[in-house]
Amino acid sequence: MIDPERLLSSRAKSVDGSGIRRAFQLGARLIDPINLSIGQPDFAVPKLLCDATVEAIRNGRNGYTMTGGADDLRQSISSYVSSDVGWDMTSSDASDLLVTSGTSGALLLAFMVLCDAGCEAIVPDPWFVVYPTLGPMTGTTIVPCDTYDDFRMTAARVEPLITDRTKIVLINSPGNPTGVVLTDDEMRDLADLCVSRGIMLVSDEIYDLFTFADGRSDSGPSPSPARYTQDMLLIRGFGKTYGCTGWRMGWAAGPSWLISEMGKFQQYSFVCAPSMAQAGLVGAFDIDMSETLNLFERRRNMVREILGPVTDISDCRGAFYSFVKVPEHLGMTGTAFSELAIEQKVVTIPGGVFSSRDTHIRLSFACQDDKLRKGLEILRDLM
Ligand code: PMP
Repeated sequence: MIDPERLLSSRAKSVDGSGIRRAFQLGARLIDPINLSIGQPDFAVPKLLCDATVEAIRNGRNGYTMTGGADDLRQSISSYVSSDVGWDMTSSDASDLLVTSGTSGALLLAFMVLCDAGCEAIVPDPWFVVYPTLGPMTGTTIVPCDTYDDFRMTAARVEPLITDRTKIVLINSPGNPTGVVLTDDEMRDLADLCVSRGIMLVSDEIYDLFTFADGRSDSGPSPSPARYTQDMLLIRGFGKTYGCTGWRMGWAAGPSWLISEMGKFQQYSFVCAPSMAQAGLVGAFDIDMSETLNLFERRRNMVREILGPVTDISDCRGAFYSFVKVPEHLGMTGTAFSELAIEQKVVTIPGGVFSSRDTHIRLSFACQDDKLRKGLEILRDLM
């Protein structure tokens, strides 16, 4: 007789996948909900990219690509990295770049090749939900870095957590679930700290293009530690910024000793990123997304205007999330408040899903303006 209890690994049993799923399930039962829980862009994929992807299927780009990625996309990413962060990306067949199955794919591969059981990785608290699960999936001990109340994962907060077992410091800016964007100085300090202590700084920059004007210095690019060192792992993706999360496209750039090991594991797991999506995204960096960025910035302002007078909101300068404190006078956890909001048909995610504390809710403003306004007004009234 099959006994799942005996067959399932302790690795699988130690991961609780219920947090976000529970919010989805509660929301799914509602008729016409105001859904502020979704980390999925609410705009259409640029037509040029859709056409190029369909064309790629028609033109036969349906087989495996090289594990590292198709040449035309690698060229395109390499020149973008060189112009954006100034790295010397040698040539398209060099192992300083790996096209991955989403940024999640890149994160998993990085942990697999860097960490043995007992190694430590410092991650932000609050975190993106995948980060703590990288622990049981790879045997790594996850060390949360408490970033309350300003949600800045600074070198000063990271340094006391470093031990001789620390292999990775993982940062995420603009951040999920807070939208907080680290400054250039904070990035430089993190880069200096990690390089001087011989630790791999892994920078998850999936929202880099969604950095608002007040998150950029001198209207330059989104701050990145990659402008201060090439001895780090830079991870970015296409899913959020071009609205194609289901195409599963990301990439990682970094030292060739690390990228080539990640490529080795990719070859024996994901094999390659989806071939037609690779072909379809070659022209992505030439597409002007500023209108979408402006739209998200206006929505961020709406969140500040409506909820700012009644509670504390994370200093969101990028991505499309706000981490909103449940006012203390309510005496409620994030979970209890989210459940109360669901009774009014507003779906958010309790902060406890992203953190060791359950004092906040995450709301996503990847939601049409009129619904967002209505949802925010309901939350304000509840607060
Ligand atoms: N990192 C962060 C911070 C994210 O928010 C997400 C998606 N929600 C990912 C990584 C995973 O992205 P992908 O779909 O490219 O795997």
